[in-house]
Amino acid sequence: MGVKTLVCGALHKQLPKTSWIFIVPNILEISMTASMDSTDFTAPSAALTATTAQLRAAGLRPTRQRVALASILFDGEDRHVSAEWLYDVAKQSGADVSLATVYNTLHQFTAAGLLREITVDSTRTYFDTNIGDHHHMFLEHEDKVIDVPSNAVSVNRLPEIPDGMELVSVDVLVRVRPKAD
Ligand SMILES: [Zn+2]
Repeated sequence: MGVKTLVCGALHKQLPKTSWIFIVPNILEISMTASMDSTDFTAPSAALTATTAQLRAAGLRPTRQRVALASILFDGEDRHVSAEWLYDVAKQSGADVSLATVYNTLHQFTAAGLLREITVDSTRTYFDTNIGDHHHMFLEHEDKVIDVPSNAVSVNRLPEIPDGMELVSVDVLVRVRPKAD
């Protein structure tokens, strides 16, 4: 009897330790998995939570990479970005993304209506965070796109719209360069 009591007492003392050892690796494993794959990412800060909500509202799953790129793009400032620019900034901020992922994400954001694509020529595409109605000016010497208010441009002649079609928009890109001497 005395022996049994001793054994029980020893077990009771050991149980918490034993279960603690088993619980800790489980927690570590779960948090490591969450940070390494591209499943839903619940961001901690208010700004990142807003970005997560913005992606969900646009019908996009807020993966870690999408949240990282969206938080750079949609920080409240209107900008026209190239994929290369976004890739560089994302890398500098410590995000683990490839240039291909940046391209794919930019096109997904555009398809979801979060961005507007501006094609300057076959080698230069910019993505506009301002999806409101406006036109653009391209500064050839700087490889830069700037906004032109919609009321600064007047298009007073348009081709006939084919039967069964309707006009969606007229996007004007004004190209400029420094005057030649
Ligand atoms: Zn713009």
